[in-house]
Amino acid sequence: MADEELDDVLTCVQCKALLDPDAQRGYAIEEDVLLCAACAARRGGVYDEARDEWTTPPDVTGLLADPDTDD
Ligand SMILES: [Zn+2]
Repeated sequence: MADEELDDVLTCVQCKALLDPDAQRGYAIEEDVLLCAACAARRGGVYDEARDEWTTPPDVTGLLADPDTDD
């Protein structure tokens, strides 16, 4: 099967855009849960190109299913 390639294709958890980790910066909420740069910026994330890191993390409230907030 040729399914292994799919393991390298990640999608933005919000807009479902395909993220190529080699070509596009994304914000990793968890290991396999990513926001694309546009969605992360929209949520207040600030990426520092010079430092190559997110200096202000985006607000990820509501993006992850949290079993503890079930009211
Ligand atoms: Zn997105």
